[in-house]
Amino acid sequence: MLEGLEAAIRRLPSHHEAIPALRSKHAAVKAGFGGEQELDKMFENYAFSMKHGIFHDLSLLSSTHFQIDSLIITPWYAVLFEVKNIAGELTVTENPPQLIRTLETGQVSGFKSPIAQLESNCELFQDWLYSRNLSLPVYGAVVLAYAKQRIKVFDTNTPMLFPSAVPTFIRKLPTTSPLLDDETFASLLTQLNSGHRPFIPSPICEAYSIRRSDIRTGVICPECGILGMTWHKRKWECMNCGSRSEKAHKQAIRDWFLLFGGKMMNKDCRAFLHLERQQNANRLLREMNLHTEGANRNRTYMMWLPSYQKKRT
Ligand SMILES: [Zn+2]
Repeated sequence: MLEGLEAAIRRLPSHHEAIPALRSKHAAVKAGFGGEQELDKMFENYAFSMKHGIFHDLSLLSSTHFQIDSLIITPWYAVLFEVKNIAGELTVTENPPQLIRTLETGQVSGFKSPIAQLESNCELFQDWLYSRNLSLPVYGAVVLAYAKQRIKVFDTNTPMLFPSAVPTFIRKLPTTSPLLDDETFASLLTQLNSGHRPFIPSPICEAYSIRRSDIRTGVICPECGILGMTWHKRKWECMNCGSRSEKAHKQAIRDWFLLFGGKMMNKDCRAFLHLERQQNANRLLREMNLHTEGANRNRTYMMWLPSYQKKRT
């Protein structure tokens, strides 16, 4: 997702109408990303005494597709963590459910409410368990990973924790005799692993209604960032800074898939990279280890298998 947003930002003219939405989504995704790493570190350093499994970025299918930032599961209960790593002063409102961030500069931005998102994930995970004839209490907490966060929240039962408070929170959860026997618990861990579907976001142009013709084509120079390197003697050459590269097209081809999605044909590749010769495009595409279909002139290339293409809701 992050890579796709970056591709769109660098390939659209800077005044393009979609840029503000792309930038704010980029900030939101990046905020989650850093936060999850903080929580991961906490889990790595903390030795849990009980039998457990920890999952990060778990994508499961219940009545709908849903994604859990972090999950700790034991034979007694499951805990879902929704991680937020957003700088500034935060206010979570209940109606409408949203998170409003005010920066010191006075800039205000809105995000999805982590509380609403967590509640929905807990319900979906509970359903996921029920559909496998399993019953476990499901708890949830929002984790604020950014040290300088100040937050105002409406009256809610949802715990809002800093990462360092997570072990204590887990230790205080009620445990009596285990609800799942060893065999059932082992099978549950296996099912969580096999139920995971890597999340492939929709192509950026589709998600943000960007016209394909608005995207600037060409190979970007990895040294100076200028668009429009030329292929000469098996290398890309930059007219601006004079640097040469053997692999600058790789990012361009990835950009094409992230922005447009679907199947790439030889002519799409030539048009996007500004290549004239079919053989050159063929060779560069073959080296990318993409999934292929068809032969010769009808050959198409895909970055992902279509069965993985599931939308996050
Ligand atoms: Zn250059």
